[in-house]
Amino acid sequence: MSPTTLLLPTDVRETLVSEASDGSPAEICGVLLGTGRASETVRVIDSRQVPNVADDPRTRYELDPGETAQVFESVERGGESADDTASESRNTTEVVGFYHSHPRGPPGPSATDRAQAQWPGYVYLIVSLASESDATPTTDGAATATEAPADADAEGVGAEGAGAGVATDEDASESSERAGADIGAWRWTGDEFESLAVESSDDEQVTDESDDSRSA
Ligand SMILES: [Zn+2]
Repeated sequence: MSPTTLLLPTDVRETLVSEASDGSPAEICGVLLGTGRASETVRVIDSRQVPNVADDPRTRYELDPGETAQVFESVERGGESADDTASESRNTTEVVGFYHSHPRGPPGPSATDRAQAQWPGYVYLIVSLASESDATPTTDGAATATEAPADADAEGVGAEGAGAGVATDEDASESSERAGADIGAWRWTGDEFESLAVESSDDEQVTDESDDSRSA
């Protein structure tokens, strides 16, 4: 078996990183739309952010059930909400997985992520902003918690400027690039997270190959 690849367009990647920055210090989450969920090449086409309704959104995420259901329904109806998507992909687009951010943690699944994974065959993508704050000690605890507000506040303002499309704040846009937010992706097998290779899909134009695995 060859390793599974997750093809992620640059624009979606940037959207996810931007959402993660805007939402920091809370975790953000959402649904990934694409094709080839159960195949060896999962292609992400679009994303839909969903409110994080966890009790403690700084360390947990829980997709708003109602809005998540709406995303599933809209995809099943043929993507009514995906007006900008080409009609070709509209027909085959499915929910391929979910994403959330780790504002202060690595791009790997936490013990909590493992415990709450419940969709076998689906992709779990994690956006890590941890490299933005290299100075942050690796110990979780009171020290980190008391430092977080001031630090996060400063970051939040910068990220907001960049997110609003105000390109005048050079510092902010530079930091979101330099931060080089890490993206990790896994497929939940039902027992464990299988690591996926994340690649940009920008170079690829051909989408026919997915039909082969589909008919097999
Ligand atoms: Zn997590």
